Amino acid sequence: MADNNECIFCRIARKEVKVEVIEESENFLAFPDANPISEGHTLIIPKKHFANIMDLPSDLGSEIVGLIKRVAEKRIKEGAEGFNLLMNNFEAAGQVILHAHLHLIPRKKGDKIRLKTA
Ligand code: AMP
Ligand code: ZN
Repeated sequence: MADNNECIFCRIARKEVKVEVIEESENFLAFPDANPISEGHTLIIPKKHFANIMDLPSDLGSEIVGLIKRVAEKRIKEGAEGFNLLMNNFEAAGQVILHAHLHLIPRKKGDKIRLKTA
């Protein structure tokens, strides 16, 4: 799907909206969530506008897994003891930004964070 002018994550992917780039690969970009659930909460997005995981080409699977692991490694070096991966797909599941994105939420033992889904 072509880039979407109105989509905030497309604008971030095009570097029109500046974010701190945590990690980047050919097709994916990782940057901090603006409303972090925990310190280091990171979003991983495809650079192209895919609405959700159903539209994401399956052959990008190994690339995104590689990027997830690089971000996680960074967070673990910074002190995270674990992390959750969360992805909301479609509005019924709580997806607000309709450009596919994965949440990487760093965790520590006893941090009392409770993840809520829609
Ligand atoms: P959801 O679509 O429910 O998975 O949530 C969208 C997430 O995107 C929320 O956690 C927001 O805090 C985050 N978010 C929205 N706009 C921005 C932005 N401009 N930069 C970084 N994170 C954002
Ligand atoms: Zn988009």
